[in-house]
Parts: sequence; structure tokens; C-alpha cells
Amino acid sequence: PGREVSWPQAFKYITIGDAGVGKSSLLLQFTDQRFQPELNPTIGCDFSMRIVNIDGKPIKLQIWDTAGLELFRSFNKSFYRSAAVAILVCDITRRETFDHVAGWLDDAVEAAPANLTTILIGNKCDLDSRRTVSYEEGENFAKAHGLFFMESSAKTAQNVEEAFTMAARTVCKKI
Ligand code: GDP
Repeated sequence: PGREVSWPQAFKYITIGDAGVGKSSLLLQFTDQRFQPELNPTIGCDFSMRIVNIDGKPIKLQIWDTAGLELFRSFNKSFYRSAAVAILVCDITRRETFDHVAGWLDDAVEAAPANLTTILIGNKCDLDSRRTVSYEEGENFAKAHGLFFMESSAKTAQNVEEAFTMAARTVCKKI
């Protein structure tokens, strides 16, 4: 009596966005604290997890990385099902990846739960001199669509931890 076993609560995260924006690299940096320039392309669906501590409570993040989804753009509803967080990534050095963000958002709105927490990430901010998307553009798009916004670098780890844990904190507040 009095002995309580509590399992960590689990949140499903999905990463979406064009091929090459750094989704797998962000995931590797978050789960393994490393950057691997020649990362093998994900085939199918990659799955990683990490337990984070949110206000003293362990939360298990189960993160699904989409490869293929961005290539065929075939809409896999099971991928979005029961997702709590979408990490929507664009590459600040490749303008077209930002132009496609609205389309990714449409897919998520159509297939994901209505209370999905979405964070827009402008990745590769270490390549500031090659940027073709300004910080303000990213921020304004996010504001207009009710998303969080951050710029990150999977290479230097800037804002990687912050983005994933901030989303978890937001989900905790919603439930
Ligand atoms: P994905 O297709 O969206 O999963 O993208 P990847 O994670 O495979 O990354 C695509 C390419 O961009 C790879 O060559 C990565 O090494 C590189 N890359 C990813 N993130 C960053 C970053 O933050 N900065 C820089 N300089 N390169 C990155």
C-alpha cells in the first residue's frame, strides 16, 4: 500500500517539411546530442524517443520522422493520427522550403487531431550568410497561423532542446 508506480506520460511528435531541411538531423541532435553531416536518408518511418523532464514530471517523447512522406507527398493519415506535436521544419537557406510550409500545415490540419501543437522551425541558422528567409518572415507566418516559431541549427544544437521541450510544456498545459 502506498507504493505507486507511475509510467511516464507519452506524447507523439511528428516531424514534417520538405526533404533536406534537416528533420532527421534535428532528431539526432535532440535524442543523441550529435550532428552527423552524412546522415543516411531515412527510408520509411524512423522512430526515436527521449524522456524529458517537464516541471518535475517525466514525459516520454515518441518522435516519428517522415521520410518518403515528403518525397511522394502521399498522405499517410496514420502518421498524423494521435500526434500531439508537429515539428514543421523549413531551411532558411532554401526559400522554396519556406514556401511549402503552408501546404504542410494544410495536411496537418486535415489529418492531425484538432489540438495539435505545431512549432515552425527555421533550421540551419548557422548558415546565416546564406539565408533567403528572414527571421521576421518566419515569425509573421507563425503568428498568422497560431504556431510557435524558432530558428535552430541541428549542427550547433542552437534551440534544438528548447524547441522540443517547449512543445512538450505546451501540451502539458493543454491537458
Ligand atoms: P531531412 O531530409 O529533412 O531529414 O534532412 P537531413 O537531416 O537529412 O539534412 C539534410 C542535409 O542538411 C544534410 O546534409 C545535413 O547534414 C544538413 N543539415 C541539417 N541540419 C543542418 C543545420 O542546422 N546546419 C547545417 N549547416 N546543415 C544542416
